[in-house]
Amino acid sequence: MKCEICGEREAVYTCRLCGRRVCGDDYDSVKGVCKVCSEAMCEICGRQLAIGYCKYCGRIGCEDCLIQVSTVEYVCKDCAFKYRLKH
Ligand SMILES: [Zn+2]
Ligand SMILES: [Zn+2]
Ligand SMILES: [Zn+2]
Ligand SMILES: [Zn+2]
Repeated sequence: MKCEICGEREAVYTCRLCGRRVCGDDYDSVKGVCKVCSEAMCEICGRQLAIGYCKYCGRIGCEDCLIQVSTVEYVCKDCAFKYRLKH
């Protein structure tokens, strides 16, 4: 079976998030996910897919790491603490 991302090399890993079969080059062995999921992963905890980004530090984060401050804006927990934002 070929890698589902590049379609060239042989797939040797399975992404634990999306289930794609991918080659070594398209797999992040530290996070255990494919390249596509790795780029969409929360930069703060690294465990879940990100849902948005912090309007202060710009890091992408998941629903556990971000606090929604308006319909379109999020602030991460670190920045919320730093700027003393009330939830
Ligand atoms: Zn590949
Ligand atoms: Zn994936
Ligand atoms: Zn997170
Ligand atoms: Zn932040």
